[in-house]
Amino acid sequence: MLVTIGSLGWFARSFTRVMDKREIIETFDDVVALFPKTVQDIEQRAEAACKLAEKEVRDIVSSSPSHRTFANTFGALDDTMARFKKVLKAISMLEMVSIDEEIRASAHNANIRLTNFGLDCFLHNAELYAVCKDYSDKVRRDSLHDEEIFYLDKIIKDFEYAGLHLSPEHQAKITELKKALTPLEVEFEANINSDQGCLIVERAELSGLDDAFIAGLARTDDGSYILKTDYPIFIPIMENCTVESTRRGLWKLFVNRAYPRNSIVLRQIIELRNECARLLGFQSYAHFNLDDLMAKNPETVDHFLDNIIVRSLPKVKQEFDLLTSNLPDGVSLTEDGKIRPWDNAFIKEMYKKKHLAVDERHIAEYFPLEHTLEQLLSIYEQFMGISFKSLPASGLWHEEVKALAVYNKTDTELLGYILLDLFPRPHKYKHACEIDIVKAGRIEGVRYPAVAVVLTNFPRALDGQPSLLQRSFVTTFFHEFGHALHEILGATRFSELAGTSVKLDFVEMPSQMLEEWLWDEEILIKVSKHYITNESLPHDIIERIRALKYFDIGDWLQRQAFLAKLSLYYFKQPSKKSLCDMYQELYQEIRTHVVFEHDDHFEASFSHLVNYGAGYYSYLWSKVYASDAFSVIKPAGLLNSVMGGRYVDEILSKGGSVPPQLLLRNFLGRDANSDAFFADVGLSN
Ligand SMILES: [Zn+2]
Repeated sequence: MLVTIGSLGWFARSFTRVMDKREIIETFDDVVALFPKTVQDIEQRAEAACKLAEKEVRDIVSSSPSHRTFANTFGALDDTMARFKKVLKAISMLEMVSIDEEIRASAHNANIRLTNFGLDCFLHNAELYAVCKDYSDKVRRDSLHDEEIFYLDKIIKDFEYAGLHLSPEHQAKITELKKALTPLEVEFEANINSDQGCLIVERAELSGLDDAFIAGLARTDDGSYILKTDYPIFIPIMENCTVESTRRGLWKLFVNRAYPRNSIVLRQIIELRNECARLLGFQSYAHFNLDDLMAKNPETVDHFLDNIIVRSLPKVKQEFDLLTSNLPDGVSLTEDGKIRPWDNAFIKEMYKKKHLAVDERHIAEYFPLEHTLEQLLSIYEQFMGISFKSLPASGLWHEEVKALAVYNKTDTELLGYILLDLFPRPHKYKHACEIDIVKAGRIEGVRYPAVAVVLTNFPRALDGQPSLLQRSFVTTFFHEFGHALHEILGATRFSELAGTSVKLDFVEMPSQMLEEWLWDEEILIKVSKHYITNESLPHDIIERIRALKYFDIGDWLQRQAFLAKLSLYYFKQPSKKSLCDMYQELYQEIRTHVVFEHDDHFEASFSHLVNYGAGYYSYLWSKVYASDAFSVIKPAGLLNSVMGGRYVDEILSKGGSVPPQLLLRNFLGRDANSDAFFADVGLSN
């Protein structure tokens, strides 16, 4: 039985629409036109966006109280913010992807300017708050659509989270602090992306790596090899290089990206955020950050994480005993019996090769990029009832960017565009992410297509060999593309509630759920095709892959819980301790089987600390719901379009317009629980 709470009467009343404020993206030329091409273009667009937003907000504020409607207050505000953010996001993304130094610098400055302008213009604007609050207090709620009520309450709350219900002095101080934060937050990411650290090694120091990998490395003039910290280099070296000094050298570079600069920046961010939170009446930034999320407060999250840490301990111990009683040649433990951090991945990989007959580099030969992506897309097509068209993409920020148009199943309605920028470049964003440039919408049957960008760092094709994806890259693609589809399939009235604009501790749910597809035999057969023999993965290798699900799950859970605790710890209380000392303290408390190295400054490149704040726990928290939803989908079949359609309708299309607990209840037909999660990670009681 399906219980539909919250959706009753959902479409009983029609929306009021402000058509002239939300342009519709129709052609691919419209997508290309979103991104400025020159420094002058960036500056002009930034200027024009500010002027327009200022005028539109003035129109909202100056409407006479007797003529105020939902459409000309909250409706107009959403449309105006959507228009402004579209420009802001397109410009700020250029800093993450452009190969032109001047464009990056201009985008950096414009990002800061636009962000701070947006504070004054929208949610820190006392006049606008007064108008919205007045309307909100007087409106008859039964005259509004459910989504309109939800939106109205959210915006009033957002104004109050900006301090607009406090005294003018408090408001001014909070706005000042937020403005001081903006350049620091932008700089934190820029410092990571511009880190150019590299290790120079000789051929003998690359022992354990295959010839094709070595042939693809950049060389110095005298023929030495250049190792950068990009994932396509870092991961194979950490897993396969038999020379300890190479692993250690590259690991040290990796955990010191943007150090020491970002340690100073992060410290300032933490202090300013805490000060801001205290002015708003919260004990700390973590308390403020979590107040509106599913978890509500740091205490609940601490309890959640402690439970995972305790329950995963026996598994961690079991994995440690197994791996350390079979150490590969040349690897030893520290004097007090711990694993060195640069040995952790290597020990696992060598064990997998020797005892489980699994070689990830060999398995990657079954995942040539082009075929794999094509098949992954066809899984989404079947399950979600959509269709992709590949487009010749030109006129974007780099010639390697690929473009897809997404349609409904019958190709009669354009749902949006997804741009894929897949390979590493100097100064490009280092991790994997999805960025929404234009939010989707559906207003009175009119479709507003979304535009989403996926950034990854996959290995390039080598001489005589296509780009081959290790399984972790395949999972990354499926995960990030899942975020993009969350955007594309959004069908809310309000841009601020569309797609991935859900609670932070729910946002990883759809993508982490999709990761489960890649443990399924039928799916693995479908996706894989050896780049030479054209064969799919044979049954015996698939069985060995599937057996890996629990191979190092204890270590994975513990590391995720550690990072989540770290993000809470940094933001939970003001501390005189240095960030390094706090990192070390928590590391030694939780990661008891891996030694802490004094030059480990991973916090300096842990970009979630800025983007997610105290909310890194979102991954484990969302995974609980991902496992629960998957447990309902799995029996129906992973390519079952009826189930997929229901998932799209009940979860993805609603975005943040319904509280996550209700979305889940509507989809599951019951309240969500953690049984499937603990079973999925092998920790059932
Ligand atoms: Zn994600």
